[in-house]
Amino acid sequence: MTLAGIADSDATAVAQQDMSLDAPTDMEKHWVESLDENVRPRSLDDFIGQNELRANLRVYLGAAKERGKALDHTLFYGNPGLGKTTLAQIMASEMGVNLVCTSGPVLERSGDLAAILTSLNSRDMLFVDEIHRMPVAVEEILYPAMEDFKLDLVIGQGPAARTVKIDLNPFTLIGATTRMGLIASPLRDRFGILARIEYYAPQDLSRIVLRTAQILQVEVTPDGAREIGRRSRGTPRIANRLLRRVRDFALMRGNGLVTEQEAVAALERMDVDNDGLDQMDRKLLEVLIKHYEGGPVGVKTLAVACSEEVRTIEDIYEPYLIQCGFLKRTPRGRMATARAYKHLGMASPDAK
Ligand code: ADP
Repeated sequence: MTLAGIADSDATAVAQQDMSLDAPTDMEKHWVESLDENVRPRSLDDFIGQNELRANLRVYLGAAKERGKALDHTLFYGNPGLGKTTLAQIMASEMGVNLVCTSGPVLERSGDLAAILTSLNSRDMLFVDEIHRMPVAVEEILYPAMEDFKLDLVIGQGPAARTVKIDLNPFTLIGATTRMGLIASPLRDRFGILARIEYYAPQDLSRIVLRTAQILQVEVTPDGAREIGRRSRGTPRIANRLLRRVRDFALMRGNGLVTEQEAVAALERMDVDNDGLDQMDRKLLEVLIKHYEGGPVGVKTLAVACSEEVRTIEDIYEPYLIQCGFLKRTPRGRMATARAYKHLGMASPDAK
């Protein structure tokens, strides 16, 4: 591939991602609606929760700045909507460098990635969302780029093919993934910083609701914020989405003030129950219990029975249900726990 060819594919890969900078991955669409960019925290001080991770990042960023070097490659892993993209943007802004965003599935050919890498200035950051979905051929050119800031490009085919080495400016790769297990170990090992983003504690979520409410000029009482935070599945993106919908109900039912009572009424109308489970979570548990006697049942069967994609179940529903103790993952398949039976008002077989 010529460099001109690379430049063409560069335009496509970056442009596609520009449109999806704040957009969800296709798996996240269930939870997402377009949020104002100004709701997104801009600095580490604005970023609520994840205290340990935040403190560590502060040290790594400070040290990199002090040395005048690019920050080590960083891999964020955690469920959708927990703040991976936000942290990448914060890191670039704290380092005072550009952030170029793309995602694994958008990088179809190695030329796409090569084009982006050759366009980076010294210490710039490249954010690759869903890095576990990057094709193997693309991943392979990333290895020398990450390790030695060099690209090995094969130009032409057959006997005429030759390898060209291109020097890159030192850069920082920030990878984000919902599936650490799908990242090949040669790739994982090349990240100097591995950072897991956990579900948020309810009190952090209620702070996030209060912060977003202030930006959106919604009046929320502390109790109202706590109720929304508590039912947000540990996820800021969901907290922000629920706040917007509760605001709509509060406006149409009353004077727009989001009180605890308004929040409870609105969340119930939206079918978000006391534990933050929505219709799909309950359907999943119900199918498991009613059709498969509580399991064990394979995730593929479960997905078909719920008319849902396996990936959506694995990435969005299951992690929270497992975290809350409604579901167990066993080598023979998924199983409902006694808590799931109780939640749905059914007698657990253990209790019989
Ligand atoms: P991910 O990339 O992990 O899917 P994002 O970084 O896009 O998640 O975050 C989703 C939304 O949640 C963002 O719009 C941001 O406003 C909000 N958000 C995430 N983390 C925080 C946080 N710690 N404090 C405040 N808001 C947050």
